[in-house]
Amino acid sequence: QQCIAVMTSGGDAPGMNANVRAIIRTAIHKNCKAYVIHEGYSGLVNGGDFIKEIHWSDVNGWLSDGGTNIGTARCMEFKEREGRLTACHNMINAGITALIVCGGDGSLTGADLFRAEWPSLIKELLDTGKITQDQFDKHQFLNICGTVGSIDNDMSSTDVTIGSYSSLDRICKAIDYIDATANSHQRAFVIEVMGRHCGWLALMAGIATSADYIFIPESPSKQSEWSEHMCKVISKHRERGKRKTIVIVAEGAIDSSLNPISCNDVKDILVEKLGLDTRVTTLGHVQRGGPAVAFDRYLATMQGVYAVDAVLNGNPDTPSPMIGISENKIIKRNLVDAVKLTKSVAEAINAKDFDKVMELRDTEFSE
Ligand code: ADP
Repeated sequence: QQCIAVMTSGGDAPGMNANVRAIIRTAIHKNCKAYVIHEGYSGLVNGGDFIKEIHWSDVNGWLSDGGTNIGTARCMEFKEREGRLTACHNMINAGITALIVCGGDGSLTGADLFRAEWPSLIKELLDTGKITQDQFDKHQFLNICGTVGSIDNDMSSTDVTIGSYSSLDRICKAIDYIDATANSHQRAFVIEVMGRHCGWLALMAGIATSADYIFIPESPSKQSEWSEHMCKVISKHRERGKRKTIVIVAEGAIDSSLNPISCNDVKDILVEKLGLDTRVTTLGHVQRGGPAVAFDRYLATMQGVYAVDAVLNGNPDTPSPMIGISENKIIKRNLVDAVKLTKSVAEAINAKDFDKVMELRDTEFSE
C-alpha cells in the first residue's frame, strides 16, 4: 500500500486547499494512505506532529477555502543536505512512500533534488544505523509530483497556476471600487499589483478593468519614452471625456535600464505633466486572500486527481512530473524542464534579451 503525503510550500495561493483535498480524497479512493505535512519543508525536517495521517472527512469544506490550512513556510534547512537527510529519516519513520508538493518553482526544485538525492540519503541512514534493512528495502525510491500553486502565474509549461485567477478576481474587484471614487473626483490612481517577475496579473487586470496604461516586467522602455507615451495616451482618453485614469504597475516592472518603475515616479509625472489629482494605491496582501474562484477550485481538483495518478504510475526511470494545464487539458510535464525554462525566461528578461524571451516562449514542452 502506497502512503502518499501532500504539502504546500512557498507563497500561499487560493486553491491550494482544494488541491490538498483532491489529493487526499483521490489517494484514499485508490486505497492508499494519505498524509499531510504541515508548514512546508519545515514540517518534513521537524517531523513529529508536523506529519499526520489524514482522513476523508478531515478536509470537509476545504474546496473553497483561501490560503492553505496545512500551513506553508520557507525553510532554509531543507536547502542543505543535512536538512534533507533529517527530512528523509522522518518520512521513512512515518512510512511515507510518495510526496506531492503544491508550490512555486523553488518548492518544486527542492522536491526534484530530494528525489534525486534519495538513494544516497537512505544509504547514509542505513550505514549509520538510523533505519533498518527492511525500511531501506521498502523505501528504495521516492515518488514525487509537483502541482503549481502561485498567484503570479509565473511557471513555464503550464497556461495557468493554481491561485492566479482568484488573485486576478481580487485585483479587478479592488479596481472596480477605486474606479467609483476616481470617477467621482476625476482623479488618477496608480495601482501596484503583485506578480514578482511576471506581468500576467497586471496585464490581465489591465484588460479586464480597461486601465489606461500598464507597466509589466516583460516590456520595459526608456523612462523618457514611456512617460511621453503614457501622457499622450491618457490625454487622449481624457479628451474623449473619460473622468478617471487608472495606471497599473506590476511589482516587478522595470525600465530599459533595469531600474524598477515606482508608482510614485508615475504619479509625479501625471501630476507635473498632466495636472491630474493623483493617488497611489498598493493593493498588497488582499490580492492573496479570500476564497478560491470557481476556476481555481476546478483546476486544483482536476490537478490533484492527476497528481495522485502520476505518483502511482511513477518509477525511477521516468523524470519527476509536474501537473499543468494546456489549452484546457490537464497535462503532465517534465518538472525539471519546466523549472529550468521558468528560470531562463526570468534571466533573459533581466538581461533585456527579448529575442531570447520570445525564443524561449516557443519551446516545445516535454513530458
Ligand atoms: P516558491 O516555491 O514559491 O518559489 P521559494 O523559492 O521560497 O518559494 O521556495 C520554498 C521553499 O522550497 C524554500 O524555503 C526551501 O525550503 C525549498 N527550496 C527552494 N529552492 C530549493 C532548492 N534549490 N533546494 C532545496 N530546497 C529548495
